Amino acid sequence: MSSLFEFGQNNKPEHPIRCPHCATTLIIRNGTYLRAHPEKIGQVAIQRYLCKSPQCPWKTFSVLPYPFLPIIRHFYRTLFLCHSLCYAQNRSQADTARRLNVTRGVVKRLRGFCRRFISWFNREEPIADWGPDPEANQAELWPDFNRDISHTFYPCRWLNLSPTQYIPTCFQ
Ligand SMILES: [Zn+2]
Repeated sequence: MSSLFEFGQNNKPEHPIRCPHCATTLIIRNGTYLRAHPEKIGQVAIQRYLCKSPQCPWKTFSVLPYPFLPIIRHFYRTLFLCHSLCYAQNRSQADTARRLNVTRGVVKRLRGFCRRFISWFNREEPIADWGPDPEANQAELWPDFNRDISHTFYPCRWLNLSPTQYIPTCFQ
């Protein structure tokens, strides 16, 4: 007879999935897409959701689990390591590529992003909800961290422009 209360307690996850565009929990699952794991061999199915709020400007979204980053195909810690090798240690592209186990072309593209990313990270981590360490509580902090990255570096993903926004794009 107390099924209403039991339903609420048993079926609500500790951190309910919310639409990152309107914060509603009125969402349903909407298929998956595959992403390469930044650390391990193989791909991981990422859950896609459909926002059911009629007021929401955005229709589909996904909440990337740790350690996935929006759009960026590299591991979170790789960004810090690449930044340190390129700028703090002043190592060459070839040396950095060898140490990161990637090609020089990847380092060439990644180092510019790392400079912007670390500058942003250092500015935000004392004041952001996910700071100072988004890895400390991954279930709670990682989605906020990813949302802020996406807002900052991929603002076009937050405008109501087209329904194709979640087709994965390659890291530029
Ligand atoms: Zn929404």
